[in-house]
Amino acid sequence: MNLVREVKHFHQYVRHSQAYGSAEHDSLTHQDLYRVIFNDRVQSAFPNVEAILRLFLSMMVANCSGAMQYSINNQSSIFYAEAFAFFSAILAIPSICPNLNPNIYIFTDNLALVHSLQEVKLNLPILLDIYRTLILLKKNKFHISIFWIKSHSDSFGNNFVDHLAKEATKKYFPSQHFHPAQNLKHIILKSSIKEFSLIYNASNHRKRILKFFPNISSIFTARKFFFSNPLAGLILSGHGPIRYHTSKFDSTTSSVCRFCDQVPESIDHLIFTCPSRDFTRYMAFMEIESISGRFPSSHCDFIFNEFTWNILIKFISNFKIV
Ligand SMILES: [Zn+2]
Repeated sequence: MNLVREVKHFHQYVRHSQAYGSAEHDSLTHQDLYRVIFNDRVQSAFPNVEAILRLFLSMMVANCSGAMQYSINNQSSIFYAEAFAFFSAILAIPSICPNLNPNIYIFTDNLALVHSLQEVKLNLPILLDIYRTLILLKKNKFHISIFWIKSHSDSFGNNFVDHLAKEATKKYFPSQHFHPAQNLKHIILKSSIKEFSLIYNASNHRKRILKFFPNISSIFTARKFFFSNPLAGLILSGHGPIRYHTSKFDSTTSSVCRFCDQVPESIDHLIFTCPSRDFTRYMAFMEIESISGRFPSSHCDFIFNEFTWNILIKFISNFKIV
């Protein structure tokens, strides 16, 4: 029988056998069609349709709407990719193992996937479909055992397949598709930081902090060690108990530097130029240079890492102003 006739035949078969006109019939997916072949045991009547559906459902490419229920994108977890591969594998079982009562062993190195299925924690749509398909296969007398094996990420073959899967993921799957729940926190954090950066950069207040962090979003990755010291607020904001500010509130206080008595006392004067601490500053800046490879000449030179920042904090603490 030629292929076109077989497809037409199958179409008629499904129309008549699957409660034609009912709600279920209207919402039949490609997977449902594939299941019809096995539930009704009509593989021998529609061998080409079965083969085509199997290939179609196993393909990791979606080139028309509704072709695939699942897609893997750049944000997808390894877990999701493994679940997807697992699902593709069990869909192929009826065609690979046509004999009834066969023992089938599936090996995966993803322990989380094994636990999800064992404990029926079906918190992703694909897990639910895996579970349904496993039940269907069980009803059709397939004895399936799932085993966890130790990760084999160092093996050449496995690395090669991982590489190909990664390439395919980049090439074929747009990012607007389904995100696994465990990635949502990261996605929300990333877009919140982006939103904050836009608002911050568009505001018209003075932005001293940009001298330290030219890209304001980088402040979030550094926040753990930059804000843990009381002096950090003074250095980053430029505001605090220094004479340039206190003289404005107290007319008896001079704004001139209490350490060198030469110029107005600002935090930048203390950091970079106050001659009263020339030697200590030179030693501190040399220490920073030994770490970052750069003798500090601007604010962002102190932000190289936690150690360079702490050297600056230690140097400013010598003035004993906080
Ligand atoms: Zn001074």
